[in-house]
Amino acid sequence: MPGSSAIASRFMQDASDSTTHQTVQPDLEALIASARGAAEHSYSPYSGFRVGAALLLENGAVVTGTNVENVSFGLTICAERSALVRAVAEHGSGIRIRAVAVVNGNNAASPPCGACRQMLAEFTEPDAPVVFPAADGARTMRFADLLPCSFETRLK
Ligand SMILES: [Zn+2]
Repeated sequence: MPGSSAIASRFMQDASDSTTHQTVQPDLEALIASARGAAEHSYSPYSGFRVGAALLLENGAVVTGTNVENVSFGLTICAERSALVRAVAEHGSGIRIRAVAVVNGNNAASPPCGACRQMLAEFTEPDAPVVFPAADGARTMRFADLLPCSFETRLK
């Protein structure tokens, strides 16, 4: 029976083994900081709810967005969707999102709303972490757990 060090070595990375592939985890703290910076640009005179979102794309780019309200309230766009349309405009329709951060200036619980989840679903990897404020601090969830049954159909 192998000793504990032999078992541990099966699961530990050998730093000298350059052939080992390891998934690089996105830097969620940096992404949160980007989202926080975007929230400072919020246009939210009606609610006072300043929100920023940051998307980490597969190409390594970070794209931010903020909420933009309108006196016709239904026209308001959330930070997440604002970041998404900006990401497509800047990087093209082939983007894939590896991580999402959402921050608000009220330090309130605020997972992405349903509309934003559905919009993000079209471009976000199922395993992408989504980090957002929660009642007990920040919470990180897999995108597929945040929106387990997105609308999906093939129209073309
Ligand atoms: Zn939203």
